[in-house]
Formats: sequence, C-alpha cells, structure tokens
Amino acid sequence: MSARVFHLLAARPYRIGMAATTHTVTNQAPPLVGYDVFTADRALAEAVERHTAPELVDEVREELAGLGKTAGSAQAQEWGVLANENPPKLRTHDRYGNRVDEVEFHPSWHRLLGKAVSAGLTDAWGRPAGHVRRAAGFLVWTQAEGGHGCPVSMTHAAVPALRTDPALAAEWEPRLTSHVYEEGLRPAAEKGGVLFGMGMTEKQGGSDVRANTTSAVPLSADGEYVLTGHKWFCSAPMSDGFLVLAQAPGGLTCFLVPRVLADGTRNVFAIQRLKDKLGNRSNASSEVEFDGTWARRVGEEGRGVRTIIEMVAATRLDCVIGSAAIMRQAVAQAVHHASYRSAFGGLLVEKPLMRNVLADLALESEAATTLALRLAAAYDADTEEERAFLRLAVPAAKYWVTKRCTPVAGEALECLGGNGYVEESGMPRLLREAPLNSIWEGSGNVQALDVLRALQREPQAINAFLQEVGKARGADHRLDAAIKDLLTELSDLDGIEARARRLVERMALVLQGSLLVRWAPPQVADAFCASRLGGDWGAAFGTLPHSLDLASVVERARAEV
Ligand SMILES: Cc1cc2nc3c(=O)[nH]c(=O)nc-3n(C[C@H](O)[C@H](O)[C@H](O)COP(=O)(O)OP(=O)(O)OC[C@H]3O[C@@H](n4cnc5c(N)ncnc54)[C@H](O)[C@@H]3O)c2cc1C
Repeated sequence: MSARVFHLLAARPYRIGMAATTHTVTNQAPPLVGYDVFTADRALAEAVERHTAPELVDEVREELAGLGKTAGSAQAQEWGVLANENPPKLRTHDRYGNRVDEVEFHPSWHRLLGKAVSAGLTDAWGRPAGHVRRAAGFLVWTQAEGGHGCPVSMTHAAVPALRTDPALAAEWEPRLTSHVYEEGLRPAAEKGGVLFGMGMTEKQGGSDVRANTTSAVPLSADGEYVLTGHKWFCSAPMSDGFLVLAQAPGGLTCFLVPRVLADGTRNVFAIQRLKDKLGNRSNASSEVEFDGTWARRVGEEGRGVRTIIEMVAATRLDCVIGSAAIMRQAVAQAVHHASYRSAFGGLLVEKPLMRNVLADLALESEAATTLALRLAAAYDADTEEERAFLRLAVPAAKYWVTKRCTPVAGEALECLGGNGYVEESGMPRLLREAPLNSIWEGSGNVQALDVLRALQREPQAINAFLQEVGKARGADHRLDAAIKDLLTELSDLDGIEARARRLVERMALVLQGSLLVRWAPPQVADAFCASRLGGDWGAAFGTLPHSLDLASVVERARAEV
C-alpha cells in the first residue's frame, strides 16, 4: 500500500465502507498567526509615528515591531490560551497550617508577564516618548492575552501616586519601572523588579470610597501605621506591594502595604478567596483581610483620594488602551476570516452587507486607537494645557471607548459565524474580557459624573478640550455642526446629571471625529463623520451609508500575515 493511500485510509472517518471524501477540509480560514501585530495595524503605526519625535521614530518602531512579532506568534497565542485554561489557584496555608496566602499560576502566565515587563510596559514615566511607546506596546501585547495586563497596568500607574512622597518614590520607583520580572514573594530590596496592586473597593462601597471602613492606627515611628479591615476586590494579590485606602485619624488616607516586610517576614495579608469571574480568568482577583497589617502612609492624612487618583487616572487610560486592543484584535480576526471564507459564490469580505459590517467595526477600532494614542501623547507632553485636556478627555474616553468594546467584540464574533462562538477561535475570550474595562477603575456612570465635576469646577479643562476639537474646525461640515450642538448642550444645565451619559458620549464622539478628520485617511474620517456625527447610521453595526468607500476602510483594517 502506498504511503498516500495509507494516509487517506487512516484519515477516513469511522464508518468503513463510506466514500473517503467526508472529511476534506475546505473553505476554512487559516489561523491568524505569525504576523507582526504592531506593523499590521496601520492606524496604530501611524499614530506612533505622529506622536514620536522624528529622531526616536526608528528606534520606537523597531522596538514595537519586535514586540508585535512576538504577540502574533503561535507561542504567545498558546501562552494566552493556557493561562486562561489553567486559572490561578489560591493556597492559603502550607502543609503545617501556617498561613502563606500565595497564588499559583500556570507557567504561561509568568511568561506573558515576563515579556510585558521586559518590553518596558511598566516603564513610561520619564522615558523619551515613554507613554506613547508604552501605550502602543500595551495595545499590541495585550492582544495576545488581556488578563495579565491588570498587574502591568497597576504597576505602571503606581508611580505618579508614589511620587507624592519623594522618599518612597526614590525607594520604589526603580523597582516598579524595572525591566526585570521575578515571580515569588521576597523582600522587595532583594528583587530585580516588583509588581504593585491597589486596594480601594470594600463590600459596602466601591465607587463611593468615602464609605471605606478599614482603619489605620499610627505607630510611634513617623508615617507607619497598622491597618484593620478588608478589601472586597483586590486584583493581582501575588504582587509585592499595594496602594490601599484606609481611614486614619485625619480621614481617608493612602498607604503602601508590602506583602513582605523589610526583615523578610510576611506582612498580614489574608487572602480569603479568589473571585470566580465572567472573564479575565488568567488574572487572580481576591478578597483580602487586614489584621494588624503594617503600612506606610503615602501623602498626607485625609488626602487619600487626592493621592491615589494619580494612579486611578493612569489605569483609566489603560482601560481605554486595553479596550482598543480588544477591539483591534476582534476586528483583525473578523476581517481575516471574511477574507478567506466564501458563501453564496464569493468571499464574505466582498459581499456588500458584510463589507458594511466590517467597515463599521473597523471605524470603531481606529477611532479608539487614535484617541488612546493622543491621550498617551498628552502624558508625554506634560504641559499645563495638556494636563487640563487630559482631565476631561480621560474620563470621557474611559466612558465611551470601554462602552463600545463589548458590542464590537460581539459583532466581530458573529462575523466568524458558528466558529466565532467556539472557544478555539479566541473570540469568546475577547467577548468575556470586554465589559471589564467599563467596570473597574470607575464604572460608566462614575466616569460620566467625573466629567461633569471637571466641567463645573475646572474651566481650564473644557477650554483645553474645545481647543483640541477646534483644531479640525472647517474641515468637515458634520463635525462643525456636532461641535456647535455640543456647545449648546454644554450651556444647558437643566437635568445635567441625568443627561450626563448623552453629553459625555457626544464629547467623546466629537473628539474622536476631530482626531480622525485631522489624521486618518479621508475615507475613514468621512465614514466616521457621516455615521457617528452626521446621524446617517442605524442602531446595529453594518448600517453605514452604502455610498461611502467601505472597501478601503476594510482593506486598511486587514492584518497582513
Ligand atoms: C474583576 C474585577 C477586579 C477588580 N479589581 C479591583 C482591585 O484590584 N482593586 C480595587 O480597589 N477594586 C477592584 N475592583 C472593583 C471595581 O473597581 C469596582 O467594582 C467598581 O469601581 C464599582 O464599584 P462597586 O462594585 O462597589 O459598585 P457600586 O459603587 O455599588 O456601583 C454600582 C453601579 O452604580 C453606579 N453608580 C455608582 N454611583 C452612582 C451615582 N452617584 N449615580 C449613578 N450611578 C452610580 C456605578 O456606575 C455602577 O454601575 C475590581 C472589580 C472587578 C470586577
């Protein structure tokens, strides 16, 4: 028997005697693997070039292309699958009954985290083009797996909060921004790099942190306290340190809680259980109790929210970037599938209605990426005007971009038909991860109310915002009309709290529209303005006006392998 005949027989399905052709696989898209996630993303690559000083562009592009190739490799994709199929396990005690409060992760989790840290994704502050290169890197690398982005984000974001105390910053910042990842609990001084988390949310209140009951009693040494209480959500509890809110004699205060004390003994950090979550399954999110837990004050007593808000603002931007990453990966998968799959005599990507769906999704993804990178560039510029712009633009973007993520992931999943509903496609994992960025770091309503607060109390913020959107004035009549409507709406204070979502949505859309009009190819800007600003659009994706150049929009979103 020839090898070929033997092969055919071996591949034959169970019923001997059936024709041998029952299992020839045709018309299935190949996997989207072995590509450079960064370079294949034209909107992202252009944004990086736009926001990076010319003398740095080549260096940054090369760095991101290297990370992009790893993110698109079969190896990284496998790490992502394994880290989610083998979720973390809590080990509260050792075999002798001593509390250890450790979390065990699959080796793939450590590989993902190790790559993120070595790629500098916790190192933005003070590095040339630091925020732009980090934002792009975060957007690229979390497409391989989203869950481990949580500790990466919190470690990066702890830096500005710690800087309120120069002595603490001098001690901890080099460890937080280190490119070395070392797993395991040891005194921080003995590690090449550390991870940080945050503990704000308690059972009786998350958004309203004033309801926190965890108490902080001062010790005799200046700045040292003991904490008693609990945290209802505390993600990445295997981290080396946490910024925690607790009630000190002078009011709600921020504290640094290390897992291991300087003498090598374990601090009291009793992990009660791990949450069983909808998605984000590779990442551990825990409930923690403090009972005589040693803590070091960060900032003044009573200024806890003021201090930790620096961290929260940075993690809010990461919610925008993380959502842009999910949307980009979902759209890349959808366009890829439709480019290989035929139905009713032609490729799906060439069917007018599927093209409309894909173009609509691609617009949402590009608008999110463009906005995320503009915000990162404002962090790099760090001028008074850019800080005022960020004050409004970050919560508005956190509200809107994270809200768009779940419908985009759901619709992109449907583009793969039944395959999209099956775990192996990777789409269900994206869909489960999608709602989270809208919840943590302040849920949708909390963001909308934060925008109102800035509007009412910080006139420089709305001035900076309007100046930014005004840069595109005169270039598109739909954008001009939308800016005019927004100004009318802003001046009407009647029922403003109940109208906050609508108002913030409009602000975000006008900002996205103005950025796309300035920088995106005309067909992208035109389609965005016609639909999102001009009102020529339905309630579901795939309802763009048919006269637009939708083929070009889709082609731009294709990830070339
Ligand atoms: C997977 C996961 C991991 C997390 N990890 C951490 C962590 O590491 N550290 C940490 O501190 N927290 C963490 N959180 C908690 C998260 O930040 C909170 O769940 C979130 O901020 C919302 O707070 P809450 O759950 O108490 O809801 P609530 O504050 O009770 O809010 C419930 C709803 O009411 C809305 N709402 C609240 N106030 C108003 C208002 N004034 N007007 C109108 N609507 C309002 C909110 O938008 C929300 O939709 C995590 C949460 C999740 C899901």
